[in-house]
Amino acid sequence: MNSNRARGILLGLACGDALGRPVEFSSASSIAAEHGQLDEMIGHGTWNQPAGTITDDTEQALCIARSLVEQQAFDPADIASRFVDWYDSNPFDIGRMTMKSLSRLKHGDDWNEAGQHVWETSPEGQNAGNGSVMRCPPLAIPYATDWERLVTVSRQSSQITHADPRCTYGCAVLNLTLAGLLNDVDNPLRNALDYVDASAPDELTAALRPLARGDQPDLLETSGYVIHSLQTALHDGLHTTDAEEAIVTAVNRGGDTDTIGAITGAIAGARFGASQLPDQWLAVIDEVDELEALAMELEGPEE
Ligand SMILES: [Mg+2]
Repeated sequence: MNSNRARGILLGLACGDALGRPVEFSSASSIAAEHGQLDEMIGHGTWNQPAGTITDDTEQALCIARSLVEQQAFDPADIASRFVDWYDSNPFDIGRMTMKSLSRLKHGDDWNEAGQHVWETSPEGQNAGNGSVMRCPPLAIPYATDWERLVTVSRQSSQITHADPRCTYGCAVLNLTLAGLLNDVDNPLRNALDYVDASAPDELTAALRPLARGDQPDLLETSGYVIHSLQTALHDGLHTTDAEEAIVTAVNRGGDTDTIGAITGAIAGARFGASQLPDQWLAVIDEVDELEALAMELEGPEE
């Protein structure tokens, strides 16, 4: 395992989240009109926070990472209870399915019941958001060489709030891709898709296959629909020439900028390593030291 890449996953995720935060919900053209190219951490904007402020994406990824380290295992009930504690802190940014599921968990649902209920009662179009994919990357580090287990824990971590198979397998595909990057495989997305092909929803794999072949998609969407977010983030994370370009490209597309930025950042961080993330970005993110320490612990002892 490459420690620079493992740290890159968590720090890249935080960088994309924090860069995208002030322009969440803006269109590409309004970002361009206001900022030219947004490539530095700015304050105010959407959610009116100081420069470098992370949002729900990194907050929930931290819940997962802390749980893995403190429990020395994947414990979905413990992760769910950390999500509920975070929900009780009145976060300024929280997705709809996550809010509904965490509210049910708070009132007594088991970790594997709440997200299932919310999914079954949500109409198509509102049932497969990107809220579990954005927080799952910490799981790729300790399970990078145990793919069967990585698929299971990725899917279960999604199930806490997002039970749709496009979401649960979306987490699996992202984490298998990150695991491939940690292990320096040739075409990590193709390997990931091959691994889940028999069980993942066709809609998901069909949308991502062209990216694994290197085809340039006609259109990259920036909505919070899990398949759109994954397509765009995997494109920008895997087909740019450096980590900064990957994250800046993703964020400047507009739309769900913090989440697509976060997913792109995790991929680019795994690909290029933490050392390639801009120092001036990391300098204003308060959680950098904890994220680095967690990444090192998640890697476990040197083999
Ligand atoms: Mg967010």
